Amino acid sequence: MLLPESQLYIDGVLRPAKGGKTYDNIGPWTGEVIGLAADASAEDVEEAIAAARRAFDDTDWSNQHRYRYELMKKYRDVLVANRDRLVQIARLEAGAAPGAAFRAHIDGALNGADGVLECFANVKWEEDRGVRKEMGFETKRLVTHEAVGVVGAITPWNVPLYVNIGKVIPALLAGCTVVLKPAPDTPAMAAIMGELAVEAGLPPGVLNIVTGSDPAMAGEMLTRDPRVDVISFTGSTGVGKKIMENGAATLKRVFLELGGKSAFIVLDDAPNFAQTVMGSMVIFHAGQGCAYPTRLLVPKERYEEAVKALEMAYAGYASKWGNFDEPTCIMGPLISKRQLERVKGYVEIGKAEGARLLAGGNVRTDKGTGFFIEPTCFVDVRNDMRIAQEEIFGPVLVVIPFDDDEDAVRIANDSIYGLGGAVFGSEERATKIAKRIRAGTISVNGGMSITGDLPFGGYKQSGMGREWGLEGIEEFLEVKAIGTRLL
Ligand code: NAD
Repeated sequence: MLLPESQLYIDGVLRPAKGGKTYDNIGPWTGEVIGLAADASAEDVEEAIAAARRAFDDTDWSNQHRYRYELMKKYRDVLVANRDRLVQIARLEAGAAPGAAFRAHIDGALNGADGVLECFANVKWEEDRGVRKEMGFETKRLVTHEAVGVVGAITPWNVPLYVNIGKVIPALLAGCTVVLKPAPDTPAMAAIMGELAVEAGLPPGVLNIVTGSDPAMAGEMLTRDPRVDVISFTGSTGVGKKIMENGAATLKRVFLELGGKSAFIVLDDAPNFAQTVMGSMVIFHAGQGCAYPTRLLVPKERYEEAVKALEMAYAGYASKWGNFDEPTCIMGPLISKRQLERVKGYVEIGKAEGARLLAGGNVRTDKGTGFFIEPTCFVDVRNDMRIAQEEIFGPVLVVIPFDDDEDAVRIANDSIYGLGGAVFGSEERATKIAKRIRAGTISVNGGMSITGDLPFGGYKQSGMGREWGLEGIEEFLEVKAIGTRLL
């Protein structure tokens, strides 16, 4: 085994699942078992919810703002001190290639934690709203912000540390307590957060972690349980809808980060047009990123030039991916056989729809026994094709021509999703377009629009609410108005 057996973290204790049940953690590079993970039963999940509830109701955790901040800083330091172990897990378990593991998976997550911690000072716990005369007498008013309560944090497998941290640290900073339920494919990245929580000295019950092989059981328990106040979910739009339905009975506060099909718009006045187009290849972490712009929109009059640039870019990259040891490699395998089948299916759909396969499209068993599929690019795509409308979550780029700026905006917005996007061109023109795209995060000329101190989230069916940044902490706060009659 390459990874140590992972444990649950419930009420401050690291322990196996009830009855010692475990399941296999399958590595994406080889398709083989790389470790064993605790397989939580319903009883374990029940204990985790009860522990989180007790820690919220029976301790003064939610009132100790300074203490929580200092503790989260310490937790962050312990995570940083274990960077190499985190990188190792991202590589082995999530299939991150070295060039993606260090940058996006681990440093991105740890820098994100720093960004949220910086925002903490801006949380307004109490606001004096002054005195107002109403009904013939004067009232002094106060608005307070208080932790919502117990949070069920349900996360996906693609960038597990990043998404886990994006929920756990803001929720704990806000004064909530948390039950974290990671995807079945990435238990080790969640389990190590439990181990490091012990090292950082988190009080019992404020953070609980339940890993399990059943994708739905623990998440459904959290969603339906009246003791859980908030569900913070990142994952597919389909499961997001189910969570809203299941949470309706208890009118659960629901926060959703869902799928995307973001646009990468290159205007005719983009500096280094060909190079910018080449930079649109969907290769980083094999395209398994929710805000990844996977629809390339290029001006009709420069379409042939763009296609030629892409042809060169894909040919040049053909031998550079799928290398576990090469430090500059940014594309590894897909997470699982299931995901490989899904992406393969979309390649067939694209061909059947009449799009032209410019590059890739093949499953590559010669790369190893894991889940490898080539960087893939479809050109001559229409935006109403399924490969342009549906989230593939693999290394597949689709290329669509546009007539003018108006048309580019129309195509970008012609999607059920609205998570991210990128625009390249002269700054004023590109910014104008960025403002018209119905999505939560847009990069102009390659700027970083996703960092820990900025809000992140989607429009339309990409979700609701924001995480990260000040908005990400406020997502876990209730608002109370107190009016005191002046006597
Ligand atoms: P998924 O929706 O299948 O699973 C996400 C999580 O939900 C997992 O922990 C899973 O076990 C759990 N789950 C499954 N059924 C459930 C149910 N009935 N009730 C409660 N929980 C349940 O998604 P995935 O395959 O793990 O991840 C890929 C998807 O996640 C993609 O669609 C991607 O766009 C999305 N994603 C979005 C963001 C974002 O921030 N918007 C980030 C990463 C991934």
